[in-house]
Amino acid sequence: RVTDLTGLPAGVPEHLEEEGIEELYPPQAEAVERGVTEGESLVASVPTASGKTLIAELAMLAAVERGGKALYIVPLRALAGEKASEFERFERFGLSVGVSTGNYESDGERLANNDVIVATSEKVDSLVRNGAGWVDELGCVVADEVHLVDDAHRGPTLEVTLAKLRARVSDLQTVALSATVGNADELAAWLDAELVDSDWRPIELRTGVHYGQALHLDDGTTRELPVERGESQTAAIVRDTLRDDGSTLVFVNSRRNAEGAAKRLASVVAAELSTAERADLAEIADEIRAVSDTETSETLANAVERGAAFHHAGLAREHRELVEEAFRDRLVRTVCATPTLAAGVNTPARRVVVRDWQRYDGDAGGMQPLDVLEVHQMFGRAGRPGLDPYGEAVLVTDDHDGLEGLFERYIYADPEPVRSKLAAEPALRTHVLATVATGFATTRDELLDFLDGTLYAEQTDEAGRLASVTDDVLAYLDANGFVDRGEDLRATETGHLVSRLYVDPMSAAEMIHGLREADEETTPLGFYHLVSRTPDMYELYLRSGDRETYTDVLYEREAEIPGSTPSEFEDGAFEDWLAALKTATLMEDWTEELDEERIAERYGVGPGDIRGKTETAEWLLGAAERLAGELDLDCVRAVRDARKRVDYGVREELLDLAGVRGVGRKRARRLYRAGVEDRSELRNADKAIVLGALRGRRKTAESVLAAAGHPNPEMDDVRADPDAAP
Ligand code: ADP
Repeated sequence: RVTDLTGLPAGVPEHLEEEGIEELYPPQAEAVERGVTEGESLVASVPTASGKTLIAELAMLAAVERGGKALYIVPLRALAGEKASEFERFERFGLSVGVSTGNYESDGERLANNDVIVATSEKVDSLVRNGAGWVDELGCVVADEVHLVDDAHRGPTLEVTLAKLRARVSDLQTVALSATVGNADELAAWLDAELVDSDWRPIELRTGVHYGQALHLDDGTTRELPVERGESQTAAIVRDTLRDDGSTLVFVNSRRNAEGAAKRLASVVAAELSTAERADLAEIADEIRAVSDTETSETLANAVERGAAFHHAGLAREHRELVEEAFRDRLVRTVCATPTLAAGVNTPARRVVVRDWQRYDGDAGGMQPLDVLEVHQMFGRAGRPGLDPYGEAVLVTDDHDGLEGLFERYIYADPEPVRSKLAAEPALRTHVLATVATGFATTRDELLDFLDGTLYAEQTDEAGRLASVTDDVLAYLDANGFVDRGEDLRATETGHLVSRLYVDPMSAAEMIHGLREADEETTPLGFYHLVSRTPDMYELYLRSGDRETYTDVLYEREAEIPGSTPSEFEDGAFEDWLAALKTATLMEDWTEELDEERIAERYGVGPGDIRGKTETAEWLLGAAERLAGELDLDCVRAVRDARKRVDYGVREELLDLAGVRGVGRKRARRLYRAGVEDRSELRNADKAIVLGALRGRRKTAESVLAAAGHPNPEMDDVRADPDAAP
């Protein structure tokens, strides 16, 4: 029973009971038996929705009660805020919760005062590199979704961060939460942890494949589920679930597919809605439209009005939350989602349909089947404990051979083992430099010693392999002037800077090379190209016809781009150069004040992607600016201006105005048109003009004037000047 738990802050067990958590689920009870509330390290490999979060909460609460801090590492930045607000319910028991922004200056003091800190592994890594002192006070670190150490892009940072924290803080309790994986025992061995490896679920799960006119289930039974002429199998399943008064979660492989499927399935749902439900849905649709007036917002609202929605990482957080809530309230009855929803968000449904079990993989150059682990995580969202009699998760296929194939591949198959990806060069480059720069290792032997504490070392049985890749990496870092391999191993000034800036050393090398070649012909577009061609920027893909388009742009504007264009015969390199150019022109459009909507259309991306790209560019240009300063290059100012323009999304003349808090790109342009051209003019501006330019919004006008330092910003009896209205 929850009330029998010990070692937690007073009142916590009773509070959990009030929340409806009276008895621990079996894997939770096992975790407690193995000492998770007494500081024991633990790997919990249990299915999705089986209560992993509570295991972490118990560990963290107990650690804080013992006088330490707890760190919770989230897999996605978008989840940091959500997790933190979940933990905030314990604030009444004296626990304070903070989210790391990753900015060392602003995080330092603030986080030192929190008991529980939530951050991505990248942020933690960055804070450690910058010497955050509170790390030494940690009693417990939780790694959520630890199976992601297997992810080629982000896994190594999680792996090294855990290794580093554990090397630095003695007896650090490590709690690793994982989906069911093939080798949980290896993870436990790596982390010197106890293991809870369980298949238990709070609600029965039936799995199967829909083929033809029937659902074939894992227990060997078949149930009729007819598909009407002209409708998709998914539509038939959604309709069948609705008739049984249930909701359906449909997983697809791209944002575009999520939107398309939601649109189509909306007509299936709409046919079954009552008048009262329609009215409620219309209200939610209005809230969605109120968040923003983009096309995505409108598409989403239109679907929601008819009882369906889509969910993906390109949505604004407010949109995502409205969708999740409406789905939990059973107003929206079908959500079409990309797998991000399966990973972090607790939105169970009677039925889960995994419509797409393949996805496009750029690295592999085509469609690739999803991992068993991922599909099982999606399956895990089926069934709401206490509400549904059982959950049902199905794949769909339209060919008979596929039926058996899918059973073999996903229904009867065990999840894959987790494998370290640390040996990949970019990962090792970055982490080796950081380990040397922070003084964690001062000799090659110490470095190898540290790397020995990683999962990679635990898993590799090829003697000497770790040493030989490490030597290659050290040679690369040396050749680019980031480390000195004298008697001792140490980072150069530039190397230190690169590590603190948190860029891939290869990105830094590319930027340094380009910055050295920048001249008076180099334009902001050129700097955007420079950062877009580094490994730290995910470039836009070239679509059909883009090769011609951007080859033309390239030859027209070659002089603006620092560095030398690869030959057209160097296929890969030339394509990359063009993809970087496409990415750079997106940034240029943004700084030319083109509407987000137009940009999204022109490049075939979501508004969330535009922000993602421009934020990455802003960060990389910040790094470029510091590198140019360190190397005493003339282009520092030009880089800074390019950075600010991409940060605010404005032309040069608005840089000053857009920097005033609360102004932003659109308002800056309106003020400028009304004749208020910079911060000092705003400070002394005629209030009627400012109010007119800001479309009569008094609160906004007041706060903007206050931010600019206006002596008397109140708008009480000011009348907006109609001539200033845009
Ligand atoms: P996971 O992290 O494993 O995917 P969650 O921690 O999100 O799963 O748990 C899923 C749901 O189960 C949550 O709504 C949570 O409140 C609930 N839950 C967890 N433990 C218990 C329990 N012991 N009794 C009742 N409900 C629980």
